[in-house]
Amino acid sequence: MTKEEQLNVLKKIISIQTVNQNEAELADYIASLFAPYVGKNVNIEKVNYAPGRDNLVVTIGNGGKVLGYSGHMDVVDPGDLDAWDTDPFDPVVKDDKLYGRGACDMKSGLAAVVVALLEMLEKGDQLPGTIKLLATVGEETGNYGAAELTKQGYADDLDGLVIAEPCDDLHSINYACKGVIDYHVTSVGKAAHSSRPQKGINAIDNLFEFAQQAKAKLASFDHKDPVLGKLTHVISLIQGGEQINSVPSEATLGGNIRTIPEYPNQVVYDTLEGIIDQLNQQPGFDLSIKYTFPEEPMGGDPAAPLIKLAQQVAKEELGFTPQPVTSTGANDGQEFTQSKKDFTSIIIGPGSDESHMPNEYVDLPAYYNAIRFYQKFAHAFFN
Ligand SMILES: [Zn+2]
Repeated sequence: MTKEEQLNVLKKIISIQTVNQNEAELADYIASLFAPYVGKNVNIEKVNYAPGRDNLVVTIGNGGKVLGYSGHMDVVDPGDLDAWDTDPFDPVVKDDKLYGRGACDMKSGLAAVVVALLEMLEKGDQLPGTIKLLATVGEETGNYGAAELTKQGYADDLDGLVIAEPCDDLHSINYACKGVIDYHVTSVGKAAHSSRPQKGINAIDNLFEFAQQAKAKLASFDHKDPVLGKLTHVISLIQGGEQINSVPSEATLGGNIRTIPEYPNQVVYDTLEGIIDQLNQQPGFDLSIKYTFPEEPMGGDPAAPLIKLAQQVAKEELGFTPQPVTSTGANDGQEFTQSKKDFTSIIIGPGSDESHMPNEYVDLPAYYNAIRFYQKFAHAFFN
């Protein structure tokens, strides 16, 4: 492909609006690019998540080791359009930068993988293995697509995974991140006049009891992951009571926990639910808990072979050595690595710190670098 053709794929991908929905339209477009190769060792599958929301799996090759390339197709809302100098869905190039929603996070990474694979097919590269493109829905709001693909077994045969999320224009490799648990506890009591508190049940007092025990218990989880550090817990929301002279009949609190592999999420669920079960056996207690958007922690080793290989390929092809880093944010890798097989998942891709911002852009040289890198990396992976 010429540079202009490579750029046009990216522009087209940005122009398809996938703000937390409509990924099926983008999946259709990407599928159409691979369609001419179907039958020649190329297989295309759409995996529906919800109406208008299809994940896309393109498998190239048959047998041997399996290398996954992944990117999410959704983007976040552009927000206040007055804060943009250009139409977020009509990509514009200025000074070697391409502006548009998703230019950084992460349609440039997704487009670079797509173009890299198409070029390899065009050239007729014979690889002694299989490449699997996993394009997902709903990453931004909870990694739903990756969770669905993992549940259906699409990650079970992976020997390594590269996620093309922005990572310092390929100068860094993100290989580990903490898990996330957002929990919400509701305490139900019984209203009464505050001058006769013995007639009521104080939902706030009961909730405090839970909060104190949860804080103390989670603080005792003090083992440190060698790369991610310690588990953290913050009680971040609290609400309750009806008016100053009534015994409160309801109170809620919310907390955010960042987990590490030493304490998988299930250990934390068991702990919180254990506290609640025990308190609920005492007279007057009526506590319940629910969770939103949990993500498992993903540990890692900065000296893992997949990271070494990515560093070596980048040095040879791009002239710099990306450095291993960890993050506190979530990504699809946390879902994919829940599959049956153990494999390393890394993030390396074009784009830097412009995710989710107005006038989001990608430096085009990083986009072209990524296309070259993903091709070389695939060859190196199988050799
Ligand atoms: Zn992203």
